[in-house]
Amino acid sequence: MHLKAQKALPGSHVICDSICHSNQQLNNHSQVGFGEQLKEFFLGIFDTSYWPPRWHCGTWTDFHGWLYIVSDLFIWAAYFAIPFLLFRIINKRKDIPFPRIIWLFIAFILLCGTTHLIDAMIFWWPAYRLSATVRFITAVASIFTVFALYKILPMVYNLRTLAQLEVEIEERKKAEQIVKHHQVMQEAAEELMSRKDEFMSIASHELKTPITSLKASLQLVEKIVDKDVALQPVAPFVEKAVKQVNKLTDIVNELMDVTRIQAGRLGLSKTDFNLMDMIEECQEQCIAVNNKHTVHINGDPNLVIHADRIRLEQVVSNLLTNAFKYSSENGSIFIKFEKNNNKIKVAVTDNGIGIPENNLSNIFDRFYRVENTSKNFSGIGLGLYISSEIIKRHHGQIGAESTLGKGSTFWFII
Ligand code: ADP
Repeated sequence: MHLKAQKALPGSHVICDSICHSNQQLNNHSQVGFGEQLKEFFLGIFDTSYWPPRWHCGTWTDFHGWLYIVSDLFIWAAYFAIPFLLFRIINKRKDIPFPRIIWLFIAFILLCGTTHLIDAMIFWWPAYRLSATVRFITAVASIFTVFALYKILPMVYNLRTLAQLEVEIEERKKAEQIVKHHQVMQEAAEELMSRKDEFMSIASHELKTPITSLKASLQLVEKIVDKDVALQPVAPFVEKAVKQVNKLTDIVNELMDVTRIQAGRLGLSKTDFNLMDMIEECQEQCIAVNNKHTVHINGDPNLVIHADRIRLEQVVSNLLTNAFKYSSENGSIFIKFEKNNNKIKVAVTDNGIGIPENNLSNIFDRFYRVENTSKNFSGIGLGLYISSEIIKRHHGQIGAESTLGKGSTFWFII
């Protein structure tokens, strides 16, 4: 009944019933061993004698058969064109990510295309063994492709999209502009600093001579006033003038030191000397100017240090002057020194106003002054800078610890 119905269709092809029946015995795999099957399979890979062409298997109208064939051919054509285009892409764009997976895609798509081509050809040429082989290779290639694709997934997720790249480029442009702006600002600041240095150098040198002469004249006047009782009423004024001239001398000396440091001309002349003697001298000089504080010195009185005495005295005097200046009257100041592992550490501690934590890292910078203190205390922010340069020249270290409102400890190690 079935056959009749098929034959009745206009344009249909005759089913090759006889082939199907005669093959029944051969198709009975249970009778043949697996090795034998494999041998027979590959030896007759192009052998088509056991199958009818697809036109003759089942019922095909022309329309149905050609729809199948033409569609398969179009799929094959597309599947061969896509790898060609992919190949052109990876050939032109060497920077394309994951080129190996694209090669796998090319192989996979080509094989898929071949299965469709063979499917179309089977309508006339029933090469079912070849078809099975190509399908098997396609299966292996597709499994590899899936595995390779799965492995690169995390990297693919991390790839930036075009929109993300555009945002990134925009951000980078902005960052570059900021950097450029900073560079311009920095160059301007450096230019300003170098002009300031130049001015400082000229000013300090020009001021040095008249101040020295003024100081010498004042010292002469001081002696004359001392000897003449009639001139005693002017003595306090002369004393005040001498103090101010000394301050001026200190400032000019600091400016000249900065000029020397900038020019790399801060030479050292090292000798061995007693540290306690030097510290006591500093203490006396400071107390001569300001006797409202008590200084406690703690250290080995016989400790000898090898350094530039005048420059080290300058450092200790600066730390001591600051401790006096930035702590309340009648405060106690502690100077402690000790030798450890061939290094000598000197620390000056006060119970003064302290320094905010965020200012501590800048404290040794040139002209740096803590904002809230600079208004209430005189100074130009050079003492610690010069001190740190002197210690650096001694290949030593300088530092500070401080708690706002409680006090500070400035130390150096050489
Ligand atoms: P100057 O005292 O002339 O301003 P320095 O370089 O000696 O310059 O000190 C820099 C700044 O560090 C000071 O302006 C002050 O703000 C801070 N400073 C230094 N020593 C102390 C201290 N012992 N206690 C609190 N602040 C200090």
